[in-house]
Amino acid sequence: MTPTATAVANDFDPNVYRADFPILERRVASGASLAFLDNAASTQRPAAVIEAMNDCYRSYYANVHRGIHTLSEESTHAYEQARESVAAFLNAAAAREVIFTAGTTASINTVARSWGDATVGPGDVILLTIAEHHANIVPWHQLAQRSGCRVEFLPINDDYTINDEVVSAALQRFQPKMFAMTAASNTLGTIFPVARWTKLAHDHGATVLVDAAQAAPHQVVDVQAWDADFVAFSGHKICGPTGIGVLFGKESLLDAMPPFLGGGGMIRDVTTSGFTSAALPEKFEAGTPPIAEAIGLAAATRYITAVGLDRIAAHEHVLCEHAESQLRQIDGVRIVGPTPDKKGGIIGLHIAGVHAHDVSQHLDTRGIAVRAGHHCTMPLHHHLNLAATARASFYFYNTIEEADRLVEAIVEVQKKFA
Ligand code: PLP
Repeated sequence: MTPTATAVANDFDPNVYRADFPILERRVASGASLAFLDNAASTQRPAAVIEAMNDCYRSYYANVHRGIHTLSEESTHAYEQARESVAAFLNAAAAREVIFTAGTTASINTVARSWGDATVGPGDVILLTIAEHHANIVPWHQLAQRSGCRVEFLPINDDYTINDEVVSAALQRFQPKMFAMTAASNTLGTIFPVARWTKLAHDHGATVLVDAAQAAPHQVVDVQAWDADFVAFSGHKICGPTGIGVLFGKESLLDAMPPFLGGGGMIRDVTTSGFTSAALPEKFEAGTPPIAEAIGLAAATRYITAVGLDRIAAHEHVLCEHAESQLRQIDGVRIVGPTPDKKGGIIGLHIAGVHAHDVSQHLDTRGIAVRAGHHCTMPLHHHLNLAATARASFYFYNTIEEADRLVEAIVEVQKKFA
């Protein structure tokens, strides 16, 4: 944490933004007021996003790209403007490098199917970290089943980080066709050095995919600074709608790849004997796209950009430090993740003798929403020899009071179950 970031965080007032999120006023079943600490699974939406989607449906909705009538033209314009907003959010060189998908999972599957099937063969290696979400593991296992390639994993250190030397050695040893890495772990919170590892991977001839599902909500994602070949993220984790995500790809790669889904919208020409593909980005957007969702996603990118991604990260760091400095004092409570300076606003917890589900259930009685289980990172949990963890995850609308409530409830859990 730089002194500048701390200074920014100190004058950050989450209550300024909470007013934009009607759902945060809720009480839960027990009657307690909601402390929503399940943001790594999905964030909440501000009124600006809900209104942008409502406005689309109320005022100008029609299918895009095909109609020569006023509403279709207005919808098409809004949909393509949304692509421009997302391109600006990612600092993409061109809007046609932004493909709208159903989410991170769909984006990674598109790359594994399209790039993977065209590029990878028997004996080739796909390199991953052991900290990947299943969304960045299973599509590669499926590619291995289809192509005869194999998937190798980088192990993680005891401090939940991975050294550059380990990355270099694996790149040297395996000469992978693809290095697919998460920018930030959804279970540990660890932030990985994407630009550095991308450079190492490129030096070894590998193509790079970055799973930015847990980075896009909390840090500036600059695809040109990263120099990654593919970047994936989801709308619902950045205050946007469900059912939409993004696949960024370098134009030269996307141009060379065959389309994955076939159907309307992705063709230039169809005959009884075949088809030719449309140009980017339509080539990868078969069928009616998520129109209102794209408009909502663009509103979300504008909203969190206005809050300020550096300020978001700095505030989450303050919340994490505040909660963890207390949690680390409690015997039997283990923080499953690195120290706050190496991670985002995620606190993974293991409490000796208490199942993570019991932790989550007790916290719910106090109005605190956290997640319990393997968080779609089963290989990581096996690696750490843990069946499950409880995970509290902060966003910019969370308060110090909510961090204190988390600590108090964990103390209660220990008294009750351990
Ligand atoms: N990758 C990471 C790191 C995630 O945290 C998630 C969701 O939890 C995903 C991928 C999958 O995202 P989605 O379910 O939106 O496709």
